[in-house]
Amino acid sequence: MSGDSPKTFYLETFGCQMNVHDSEKVVGTLLQEGYRQVDTVEQADLVLYNTCSIRDKAEQKVFNRLSDYKKYKKQGKTFGVLGCVAQQEGEKIFERAPYVSLVCGSASYRKLPQMLRQLENAPLDSAQSPDTTLEPPAIGSIDSHPSNTAKGGAPSVGESRDSELATRNSSTRGSGLATRDSLIRITGLDDRETDACFETEFTARTNPHRGYITIIEGCDKFCAYCVVPYTRGKERSRTSASVLAEARQMADLGYTEIQLLGQNVNSYKDSEGNSAKRKSFAELLAAVGEVSGIRRVRFMTSHPRDFGRDIVEAIDAVPTLCDHVHLPVQSGSTRMLDAMQRLYTRDQYLERIAWMKSAKREISITTDVIVGFPGETESDFAETLDLLEEVGYDAVFAFKYSPRPNTPSLKLEDAIPDEEKARRLDVLMTRQREIQITSYKRYIGAQCEVMIEGRNEARSQYIGRTTHNKTLNFTAPPTANPKPGTYAPVVVTGSFPNSLLGELVV
Ligand code: SAM
Ligand code: SF4
Repeated sequence: MSGDSPKTFYLETFGCQMNVHDSEKVVGTLLQEGYRQVDTVEQADLVLYNTCSIRDKAEQKVFNRLSDYKKYKKQGKTFGVLGCVAQQEGEKIFERAPYVSLVCGSASYRKLPQMLRQLENAPLDSAQSPDTTLEPPAIGSIDSHPSNTAKGGAPSVGESRDSELATRNSSTRGSGLATRDSLIRITGLDDRETDACFETEFTARTNPHRGYITIIEGCDKFCAYCVVPYTRGKERSRTSASVLAEARQMADLGYTEIQLLGQNVNSYKDSEGNSAKRKSFAELLAAVGEVSGIRRVRFMTSHPRDFGRDIVEAIDAVPTLCDHVHLPVQSGSTRMLDAMQRLYTRDQYLERIAWMKSAKREISITTDVIVGFPGETESDFAETLDLLEEVGYDAVFAFKYSPRPNTPSLKLEDAIPDEEKARRLDVLMTRQREIQITSYKRYIGAQCEVMIEGRNEARSQYIGRTTHNKTLNFTAPPTANPKPGTYAPVVVTGSFPNSLLGELVV
């Protein structure tokens, strides 16, 4: 570290819960490295964006942020792009946003400490030392302008940038990060074939009651529309021993709810060295649910192909496992599922739904749907609408198909116009809303235990979450004053399409 004051960083996260949790680990790593987190870009020496590219909207947001860079370039800030857009766009980001110094995909996060040190220790005036190699073989490439722009994929780097950088550097003196007279480019992009996970004891969890644990990273399924296998790399699981150690540590810290995370948690393959001790996903789920102090365990997302009956049996057997399964179907048409390379048919999907419906406990089921995949006919779409009725989902996350770079579906013909995708999305969401209006009424009169998440002062209501993952807003007498993170019984008095209303049982 150079300078007197601690190095500061600002991190903004885009996208899914996986990304949010990755950011908790990145923040923990930075804090451990001596950085201090700040709330605005203006206050930060290091500005990081943890990006998502699953749909083009998320990606656009990131590039909008990057377009603000010019505003900050004279302030000597260092910029980094992490996550899926970083992996997908790679060194092209340096062309689009020349002031970015770090581009790192999620498969390389475990090397962040080294990369941060390289950022800090980048030699002063390296523009005059073109032969200086900053690249440690294990990490990726560091492109120290201007000698290797061709290799670095930033052919337009020019003198104007140098002078801009010189300005920037003069204003960084005194901050924690090293000052430099050249463009520093550090990449962590070469680890998608790794077997290693981002295991860190330095996770800065933002929610004091519900903690997330990644059990599996990457994906090997290669659905025709999806960037994840290209951005997050190959599927790799943590050992059950390491997951359970983290769960116990969280329980010791006072967490009562754990959510196991992965692109497909139920594709989990224990990498425990001792084969006798290896656990299936259902066994791991049950073991986490049995950790002393843990009252609720959730898991997200499950892939239908790998969804076994043993998961339902575990939910039935272990009271702490929540009564909720998110099982994305994507389409109700087997023809479309085949085109999407989803590895299951409509009937196989419905078989899994039947297992859940025959459980001893009522399991709430939610899903993801993509409308307007290339070649989706009215009749395919009608099958999806029909499936909504048949399953009776408690929530549906529906998306217009978004063509993604490098994915096989880019080559498919019969693209559906955007207006038609929007129409189908609207029809689907309207239908699902009607289903939920009816089905949420089933809870009226029931008593549910909620974990209290907070209070809505404007409505004088507390916000709770049920085991079925439903928001249950409730009133309580002033004397009760229930605290966030505690559990309370609430009787349901009303229902809306996406939430329930109730009163604390006193
Ligand atoms: N692994 C999970 C599965 O296979 O069911 C899904 C994970 S994916 C990160 C989250 C959701 O984003 C998917 O279920 C899908 O509905 C949606 N999604 C992924 N790629 C998409 C695309 N190209 N266009 C629209 N939606 C997409
Ligand atoms: Fe993407 Fe399919 Fe993997 Fe899910 S299973 S992350 S949709 S490739």
